[in-house]
Amino acid sequence: MEKERFKEQITRKIDSIKDELVEFSHLIHRNPETSFEERKAAAWLAEKLEANGFQVERRLGGLETAFRAVLPQRIQKRPAVALLAEYDALPEIGHACGHNIIATASLGAAIGLTEVISQLPGTIQVIGTPAEESGCGKKILVEKGMFRELDAAMMVHPSNRTLVARGSLASQLVEVKFYGKAAHAAAYPEKGINALDGIIETFNNINGLRQHLRSDVRIHGIITNGGARTNIVPDFAAASFQVRAADDKYLSELLQKVKNCARAAALASGARLEFELSDSYYQAMKPNHTLAELFVANLRQLGEELDESPQTGAMGSTDMGNVSSVVPAIHPYIAICPEKAVGHSPQFAQAAISPRADRALLISAKALASTIVDLLSDPGLISKVQREFKSQH
Ligand SMILES: [Zn+2]
Ligand SMILES: [Zn+2]
Repeated sequence: MEKERFKEQITRKIDSIKDELVEFSHLIHRNPETSFEERKAAAWLAEKLEANGFQVERRLGGLETAFRAVLPQRIQKRPAVALLAEYDALPEIGHACGHNIIATASLGAAIGLTEVISQLPGTIQVIGTPAEESGCGKKILVEKGMFRELDAAMMVHPSNRTLVARGSLASQLVEVKFYGKAAHAAAYPEKGINALDGIIETFNNINGLRQHLRSDVRIHGIITNGGARTNIVPDFAAASFQVRAADDKYLSELLQKVKNCARAAALASGARLEFELSDSYYQAMKPNHTLAELFVANLRQLGEELDESPQTGAMGSTDMGNVSSVVPAIHPYIAICPEKAVGHSPQFAQAAISPRADRALLISAKALASTIVDLLSDPGLISKVQREFKSQH
């Protein structure tokens, strides 16, 4: 079949540049850049894509480190499928989420597809999406309309398991601030209002609330300001919380309860409360199962088996959820390490440049490209993907 011939051609192309791809993944890993600061990674990706015939629009949607790469001779063609590249790292622990693999897998898939795209209807794009870890970069791009005129979007995320249709939690970042009154903490405590008490009681109230929440909920926070000196009653204290749940509706109910925890703390401490929802709102990921099934079949054909053991429920959040609300999308995970190594740890950062990770990124590139070949070769599949998307929204 023609489709199979295209997939073989793509596989050969990706294999022929595998050293270059692995080196690229390691280069990004050696140069970790945090959210919105990914200047080197975005520039290097853009250059590689240009060298392979893509035309790159930099500063996509006004974001310095976002870009879109298109094939100039195929700009208006449909269906149009986007390969997403993330490349931000974490502070202090570097590429402990393995986004070097995400970027390189999408790059490899795009280069592989240039071999056969002229024989297929439709087109591909690579969208460089900064600030996944904090800042919710894709939400900004979605709001600026950068995912319009697309029929599907996909990427692969490294993990300790290979899971294709796993969802993600909706997540809202909350800033809690208390304003009190400074006073000498020993000589005149009765003249002070302790803002830190507001924060501590907010934590205690939330901990009390936990027993009565659904098991998919995660609420976790840090104190970002706890006062200046032990001998001054803190007149200002602040904390950031991330509040997460499996669906957007329950999350909005939950945010009211969390706000009540902070209000009660304000009443008890006498400190004035400011409760702010940040712009960072990660929507729950709704994987498109039609796309996921195609991806699974291609993974299997490439010799990568799915992890069928029971799911632990371990889920984070991703701004790919925001993308999945406007275009059919998948965000599959591919194993690069044993299950005991978890994301956002130094062990995972090491694993992201291991021989297993290098192999996983090549398989991911091939599976992404092969899935796009399936999709572009069969108009019936595009309508099936669309029907499923409409029934989800
Ligand atoms: Zn992460
Ligand atoms: Zn990640």
